Amino acid sequence: MSERMPVVFVSHGAPDALLKAPDTVSCWREIAELVPEPAAILVVSAHWEMRQPTVSLSGAPETIHDFGGFSPVLHRMQYHAPGAPALAERVVSLLSGSGLAADLHPNRGLDHGAWVPLSAMYPQANIPVTQLSLTRNRGPVIHFELGKLLAPLRDEGVLIITSGAITHNFGWLDWHDEGDQAPKPKAYAFTEWVAERLAAQDISALLEYRFAPFGSESHPTEEHFLPLLVALGTASEDTPQRYRPRFAYGGLSMDAYLWRHSANVFHR
Ligand code: ZN
Repeated sequence: MSERMPVVFVSHGAPDALLKAPDTVSCWREIAELVPEPAAILVVSAHWEMRQPTVSLSGAPETIHDFGGFSPVLHRMQYHAPGAPALAERVVSLLSGSGLAADLHPNRGLDHGAWVPLSAMYPQANIPVTQLSLTRNRGPVIHFELGKLLAPLRDEGVLIITSGAITHNFGWLDWHDEGDQAPKPKAYAFTEWVAERLAAQDISALLEYRFAPFGSESHPTEEHFLPLLVALGTASEDTPQRYRPRFAYGGLSMDAYLWRHSANVFHR
């Protein structure tokens, strides 16, 4: 039986983290070094929302450049990992077996919420990967419950990476900030609140994050926070290790979290 796999949440930031945020890239690499080599990877990204949970069957997922206005270098980047259609089928059977209807998509590729961190974590692109969508307009609780249903995958060698943002208010961003300024106080305050509630395993507060100080301002729309709640559901009773790269553009918190099963924390 394989070791219970960790669960990872990353803030993927602006798409140019690979070019402009070396401390974020180092953080993602460090996390990957702590994780046993996965048999396959399932990514839940803020950038794929569907009417109901959907998993891609693609055998060779394309690299989706779902952004504009960044460096041509970024637009040319490719991440050619093999797909994971067997994992996609397994995810659908886990969800639908618990009464949560789920779909397969024939060929959806990897959006930047997936391939940007994966390019740092697994640069050889040799581990099969597929994506599971969020469920559009369904809110925190269903995403936490969705995460719970994915938990058996941790005992099947599957690494679950959820990818969003701890804060995601474009009105707070300073596109001229090269990483040398203090973060916006509201973004900093909400980031610290999330860290404290995660450390305390205060799930009910996190599910009601919109009522926290600057919660709804940190997320004018919910999709970048929901991946954290999926991870929280999957990680169950494990406590997270926090990583704190510098904020991007003064307002995008880049915090990442790694949940390791307590029995596995002391060996690599
Ligand atoms: Zn994003």
